[in-house]
Amino acid sequence: MKQVYMDTFGCQMNVADSDRMELLLFHSGYARTANVEEADLILVNTCSIREKAEQKIFSLFGNLKPLKRNNPGLVMGLTGCLAQQEGEVLLKKMPYLDFILGPDAVERLPAAVERALSCREPVVWTGFDRAKNYAIPEVEGEGPVNPGPSAFVNIVKGCDKFCSFCVVPFTRGREKSREAEEIYAEVRRLVARGAREIVLLGQNVNAYGKRGLDKPVAFHELLYGVAGIPGVKRLRFTTSHPRDVTRDLVRAFRDIDALMDHLHLPVQSGNDRILDLMRRGHTAREYLDLVAELKSEVPDIALSTDIIVGFPGETAAEFEDTLELMERVGFDSSYLFAYSPRPNTPAAEFEDSVPEETKRARLQKVIDLQNRITLANGGKFLGREVDVLIEGRAARHGAHFKGRVPQYWLVNFSGGEDVLRPGDIVKVKTEEILGHVFKGRYAGQSTPNRQ
Ligand code: SF4
Repeated sequence: MKQVYMDTFGCQMNVADSDRMELLLFHSGYARTANVEEADLILVNTCSIREKAEQKIFSLFGNLKPLKRNNPGLVMGLTGCLAQQEGEVLLKKMPYLDFILGPDAVERLPAAVERALSCREPVVWTGFDRAKNYAIPEVEGEGPVNPGPSAFVNIVKGCDKFCSFCVVPFTRGREKSREAEEIYAEVRRLVARGAREIVLLGQNVNAYGKRGLDKPVAFHELLYGVAGIPGVKRLRFTTSHPRDVTRDLVRAFRDIDALMDHLHLPVQSGNDRILDLMRRGHTAREYLDLVAELKSEVPDIALSTDIIVGFPGETAAEFEDTLELMERVGFDSSYLFAYSPRPNTPAAEFEDSVPEETKRARLQKVIDLQNRITLANGGKFLGREVDVLIEGRAARHGAHFKGRVPQYWLVNFSGGEDVLRPGDIVKVKTEEILGHVFKGRYAGQSTPNRQ
């Protein structure tokens, strides 16, 4: 078989797209290699959500370029959000690229490789797919690898929210959902091949089913449907928008045992004027009310979030509102960013008025606060036995396995080396907290397990 080297940047949807590309390439005669030097095809699946991610991608290609010079037969492609955003412009910067494919052209990857091999004319395919719904056709036959214990399933793509800072509606297009039956069929296949946890994905996952489906199914109904598939031991979804959290969804957290007690719910800012400028469509009060409702229905629920500091015009007092909201919610973890303007977004037209130094200082403040809250929240689990789904071998010295608790904390633990395997759900006694990670010791099988 020929060899493909793949690198993936960005969110879980990009990881899922890369898995799909690996599958399509496998059926075109390519096996994945971790050694870029022996590759016949190099594929970089890119992200453009932040300026930093873009810089990393350009520097990676700077390192890859000599390989192409030494081996003119090598095929090199760039896919994902940066491809969609920049299109042909990338060919001017990187004329050695053979193809540039936007996220909607994933299924055409084998055709792009074929074309690169036959005519060596670079292609740029960044048009949006015009179909009413989102569909991922089943590929007959074996895949290159079995899914891990936790498997991603894309259920909706694109986003209609148009937050003023975000490129997603421009790089991934308008919201489109997959028919529920197609999703259930994929989940059944994954479970049959060893998956025990299903993570439903979408840029705005809880907008699932809002329009376009031939057989309309609401997001919470889909959760009941997936959880009811035999073999699905755990269910998660990401990423949600607060405006699409319905009462029925809150009840689903309460009523579905397999739905884990964790919700990633981006808030972005704790100040109403900034939230308005961001076009988030809710106030800080509304967000806090939603959190109160979730916590009253599901007392053990863990929350995580995304926060942007230094948004154009953010004053010191407005930034303080964000710190206050973080304290009040008590997020277990957060993805924290200093604002950087993204091309084509409305906020890029605003005056980027917060000095970089102030942005850096604010970022450090939210990081420090989050670390403190994480440590305090983790303390509640310390010395207790927690249920862990083993995802694989631990990379950490002194630990044998790694996995996650329902509230999404990572756990590295020792013990059980001869009897345990990935996919088992076990009891682990926690002994130490390191950031958003526990260290612990195997404390016995959990029930139910290995059913
Ligand atoms: S909801 Fe999320 S994906 Fe959609 S525009 Fe806003 S930040 Fe971007």
